[in-house]
Amino acid sequence: MTNPFETAVKQLEEAAGIAKLDKNKIEQLKSPDRYVEVSIPIIMDSGEQKIFKGFRSQHNNARGAYKGGIRYHQDVNLDEVRALSFWMSFKNAVINVPFGGGKGGIIVNPKELSISELEKLSRGWVQKMYRILGPEVDVPAPDVNTTGQIMDWMVDEYKKITGDEKSLAVFTGKPVGKGGSLGREEATGFGGFYVFEEAVKHHQIQPGAKIVVQGFGNVSTFFAKMAFEKGYKVVALSDSKGGIVNMDGLDFNKVLEHKKASGGLKDFSGSKNITNEELLELEADVLAPAALENVLTESNANKIKACLIVELANGPTTKEADKIFEEKNISVIPDILANSGGVCVSYYEWYQNMNNEIWNKEQVLEKLEKQIKLAFADVLAAKEKYKTTYRNGAYILAATRIMEKMTP
Ligand code: NAD
Repeated sequence: MTNPFETAVKQLEEAAGIAKLDKNKIEQLKSPDRYVEVSIPIIMDSGEQKIFKGFRSQHNNARGAYKGGIRYHQDVNLDEVRALSFWMSFKNAVINVPFGGGKGGIIVNPKELSISELEKLSRGWVQKMYRILGPEVDVPAPDVNTTGQIMDWMVDEYKKITGDEKSLAVFTGKPVGKGGSLGREEATGFGGFYVFEEAVKHHQIQPGAKIVVQGFGNVSTFFAKMAFEKGYKVVALSDSKGGIVNMDGLDFNKVLEHKKASGGLKDFSGSKNITNEELLELEADVLAPAALENVLTESNANKIKACLIVELANGPTTKEADKIFEEKNISVIPDILANSGGVCVSYYEWYQNMNNEIWNKEQVLEKLEKQIKLAFADVLAAKEKYKTTYRNGAYILAATRIMEKMTP
């Protein structure tokens, strides 16, 4: 098993070597500023006490408050949280929001908890962590298995303990109406599409090009909906049970109706059922993995036909697959750019909370489109300057932006 933190550091070293970045500052970026581990005792519904382990990794705050989600999962561990906090620093710098990088978690399978146990645990995390949080210190958000409801409990607990008038701005991803921002739901998928639209201008991709999307969740559906509405052929979609393909294009709205009615994608009229593995290797122009990490590996990279890969998921491409794509001249738009729309709107949420403003959805999406397109242009400029990949271009850009703000 590759250690995710080592992978993250290797990515940085490669980019730093290409652009000959300051060695001392790169060394500093290789480890988080602070890492906190806490024990959270909870009285369960049965009356028994259970102790859960919670984490927060604060990677770097040179550009602003540490920012990143809290993950509830039975496999959360030190290396994963450190790596994720590292990636958040770089993602926030690429999209140019004034935040650093953080990530947290609790070792728990939330499906095994009742609602009241989940609430106690979430409030317990804040009781143990509040000293290192704050609207201009560290701003968590939802991640795997954490929701707007959980953020709402956390805001309430933080406010009870600290009395801070700006408590709403300490957590993003809150429900709309409880301080959350309109447009957050669509942000990552739409942001990915804006990036894709910019990329198309630099590749041999024609209107009506064939796009394969892996996933049918939050990010993938908003991306596919936009692509379909703009006249691209979304030829394949999938969920955890498998995928569907029609090389003439799927009608996105009808697929959505079918999924709602049947609970899955399988057997959609006019399409063929395929596996998730077959889906990745289809004869298409663009591949957008939007489900899981490590789906493009050295065992299937040589079989990928697309000339452009848009990494909507976090970490869908292994290092080995990346090298193969580079040799085959397949362009990969990296996750830290392609899925940065979500954190961009989280920044808008924080900004609205800090300034007592409420923006409408059009305002949010218009700003998002501009900011994402600017980030693409900046990454492209770095890529071209150093004659390298989009991924290295994005890391060079982000590292340079972070290092500019670091005191020696
Ligand atoms: P989601 O849970 O809404 O959707 C995930 C999709 O993946 C679902 O359709 C699910 O059926 C599918 N899936 C699950 N297991 C699968 C398998 N074994 N094979 C194929 N498909 C499978 O999640 P999401 O929010 O859309 O996130 C998708 C990816 O995007 C993740 O990597 C996430 O970290 C990343 N991401 C999400 C956001 C966001 O704002 N939601 C932001 C940045 C990055």
